[in-house]
Amino acid sequence: MANFETPALREYPIIPLIHAGTMAHSKPYVAKPEHQKPLGFPGTLVDNWESVAVKKLGELVDESRALRVFLDTCVKCGSCTDKCHYYLGTSDPKNMPVARQDLLRSVYRRYYTLSGKLFPKLVGARDMTKDVLDEWYSYFHQCSQCRRCSVFCPYGIDTAEVSMAARDIMDAVGLGQKYSNEIIAKVHSIGNNLGLPEPALRNTLDGLEEDVKDETGVDVKFPLDEKGAEVLLITPSADFFAEPHIDGLIGYAKVFHQAGIRWTMSSHASEAANFSMFIGNHENMHKVAIRIREAALDLGVKRIVVGECGHAWRVAYAFWNTLIGPFDFLDRNYPIPQHICEFTYDLIQRGALTLDKSANDDKIVTYHDSCNVARATRMGSMPGGQFVIPRAVIKAVVNKFHDMEPESIHENTFCCGGGGGLLTDDLMEIRVKGAQPRMQALKHVVDDHGVNYLAAICAICKTQFAKVLPYYQYPMDMIGSVHGLVSKAIQLGTKE
Ligand code: SF4
Ligand code: SF4
Repeated sequence: MANFETPALREYPIIPLIHAGTMAHSKPYVAKPEHQKPLGFPGTLVDNWESVAVKKLGELVDESRALRVFLDTCVKCGSCTDKCHYYLGTSDPKNMPVARQDLLRSVYRRYYTLSGKLFPKLVGARDMTKDVLDEWYSYFHQCSQCRRCSVFCPYGIDTAEVSMAARDIMDAVGLGQKYSNEIIAKVHSIGNNLGLPEPALRNTLDGLEEDVKDETGVDVKFPLDEKGAEVLLITPSADFFAEPHIDGLIGYAKVFHQAGIRWTMSSHASEAANFSMFIGNHENMHKVAIRIREAALDLGVKRIVVGECGHAWRVAYAFWNTLIGPFDFLDRNYPIPQHICEFTYDLIQRGALTLDKSANDDKIVTYHDSCNVARATRMGSMPGGQFVIPRAVIKAVVNKFHDMEPESIHENTFCCGGGGGLLTDDLMEIRVKGAQPRMQALKHVVDDHGVNYLAAICAICKTQFAKVLPYYQYPMDMIGSVHGLVSKAIQLGTKE
């Protein structure tokens, strides 16, 4: 049973009055040495952690002009204060984006600005103390790095970057978060977040082939490590076994099958997710991502397609080319990399898929724009393609679709509440409370249009919604993959 209250859903969103300290107790489990060391971090808090933290902060602002500008620029205009779902859901003022930034900014001022060195009290500068570190650990793990606040900041200050820097510093002093670091260590040692070794993965895919054959009578393949395939699919490992993710994987396979394109997955690069972005650590981000380049070269593919995963698409779209590129060995007639929704959309445009929308007539669908896709990437060549293309795919496979209110979709989208490395049971309270603004918008389309299916293209969003929907009295199976809808509608031929 939950030992906290689920926020109420109201007819109209209400900006809550401030309740200081209501979430000060929220802290994820601390990483143990066995989670820290494989990532190159100290196993436990180092003795001289204050000086290590201050030095690391100095290195980060030297390396990243953006971070320095973000820390120098804020004019306290207040535009961001009511834009964070965690503030709206918890009323804790330290969950206001500007206040969250100030947790780090105050230390930056103390050690790296003249006014902070001379008149610390006057400019809100603070020494790096254990109380400050504890506050960082709590509130920088109440930020899903969703970037919604930056959309409303007149200076474009990105709290996600500040939060990544704070986590990078905490890891450098030996205070890591168990959930993210344990997962990254698993990718380093086994290859995916779930710790699925190659034989188990192969078994799972063989089982899926049998299931689809039983359902459709068609031999849809789920190939692994097939040299010479045209497309390498990189997808979150959640797609391999968990509901509702697996319906998406079945959908991708049916699309590849009907398009007649040879494709493969890789046991070496069996994970699209890259949690190293959440902890702001470039070395680990590179180490996780490089597997994908190695797999593409080894298998001799011409294209890389990325499955439904929000932050993975951000890493792929925004970082791969500089992080693990150049991709001069891939076919430049296609986007490098390409999102699975772009891939399917292109086939739909060319009439290459046979789709029967009525197969989804039991569903009234709405779409949740995932933060990392909406605010950090694009799809296709058109501005806003990341909003248009997934909706176009959905509308090609369902008859009944209703968008949520404009303030809660596209670049204004509200986080699911579980992004940025917060998708762990020890943070359930902040996850449930942070989901309140999204649930509020969902309630309107449920009440007005009878929506019963929430489609998403992010593994984290899907897992988070399956967990938090019941807290708001909605069924957990209301959340589903966009390609789960495609899977239902695609007509592969007559069953033999
Ligand atoms: S990035 Fe998202 S979670 Fe973090 S402070 Fe901004 S709105 Fe809140
Ligand atoms: S909107 Fe930007 S400038 Fe204004 S208080 Fe927030 S971070 Fe500072």
